[in-house]
Amino acid sequence: MKWHNPGHEFDNVYKSMVEKEEFYFFGAGDYGKQFLPIMEKEINIKGYIDNNTDKQRTGYEGYTCYSLDQIDFFAGKTGIIITVSQMQRSSIVEQLKRAGYEKDMDFFIIEEFLSVYFVYKYDKVYFSSISFLPSTVCNLKCKACLNFNPFAKQFYVREWEQVKADIDLFFKCVDHIMLFHVSGGEPMLYKHIAKVIDYLDKNYGDRIDTLRTVTNGTVIPDDSTLEVLSNCSVEITVDDYREAVPKYNDKFDFLLKKLDEYSIRYYINYASEWIDLAPDRTDFSMASDEQMIKHFDNCCQSWQELRDGKLFSCNYDAYAAVAGINKEPDDEIFDLRTYSPDLKRNLVEFRLGYNVKGYTNFCRKCMGISEKNPYKVAPAEQI
Ligand code: SF4
Repeated sequence: MKWHNPGHEFDNVYKSMVEKEEFYFFGAGDYGKQFLPIMEKEINIKGYIDNNTDKQRTGYEGYTCYSLDQIDFFAGKTGIIITVSQMQRSSIVEQLKRAGYEKDMDFFIIEEFLSVYFVYKYDKVYFSSISFLPSTVCNLKCKACLNFNPFAKQFYVREWEQVKADIDLFFKCVDHIMLFHVSGGEPMLYKHIAKVIDYLDKNYGDRIDTLRTVTNGTVIPDDSTLEVLSNCSVEITVDDYREAVPKYNDKFDFLLKKLDEYSIRYYINYASEWIDLAPDRTDFSMASDEQMIKHFDNCCQSWQELRDGKLFSCNYDAYAAVAGINKEPDDEIFDLRTYSPDLKRNLVEFRLGYNVKGYTNFCRKCMGISEKNPYKVAPAEQI
């Protein structure tokens, strides 16, 4: 979205939020569940809405689960908060619009609700997530690598001092974060991974709801790393790429055994397909600014990257710069090094998708993350 009134983009949205006396969460699943503890203390949640009839029968997390047409909706007094993940969101938005509900009047998006509510009500900067990439080093060669490693001349590796400085600066500006995601490359190949996780956990753990990293399931961290991780409140997403790289199947099993042995929390991620952003087959260089703003707004990508004292509007824009296929972003960044507390609402707006241009440089070469992107590939398909 393009900034028109920085610092005030959400004034009316907040006004509409605080008029409401009760809310429903639309989306009874894992994604929405994580927001429950934080929001339950702040707002009156009447229950869930979900299109899944099983959930309507059983309820969810102690709440009744309704179909949309079952709820008691009092215009102006009742609000609906969409709590499904970005990729499934557009169909819910359409469903609500078809039923006559209006965005930011009757229904809200959870990440916007969270950040806008806390910055307006408490003058606190709450983020739903941030992505942090200490290194792009990886042992796999995925065709559709979202770090764009196949295009890069060399891997990118950050020094510990740079990493630490970014973490400290980030927490000077941001009060609370729901998900701090240390990504890669393959994080387990980064030599300071234990130090990064330990530093985040010990120094900022009370301001992070979930500290998470990820592994491709083909690398076994050494025992000293596992020991450190076992003493941190961290969870690991273990991507299951056994179909794409069967030669690592034994390692995958051994990794799970080691994580169990060290009582490290992990989740296995089975993706059925990946989206290829296809920078080598995409060219929107002739598109107008208006068309690009639309392309950016229609993209479901919601990760932002923290690097070198800056937040990047889209982490793939940042990764493409690191891989050398995009120029270093300029007006689609938020510079935390020049941040001052009077910019809290600007910072929240940036995190929620506003920037000077309304899109990123890389959007001109990127098909985006949406159902309209035709380039679907098998997860971790190798070059
Ligand atoms: S189109 Fe690509 S570069 Fe643009 S926001 Fe989406 S993922 Fe990022």
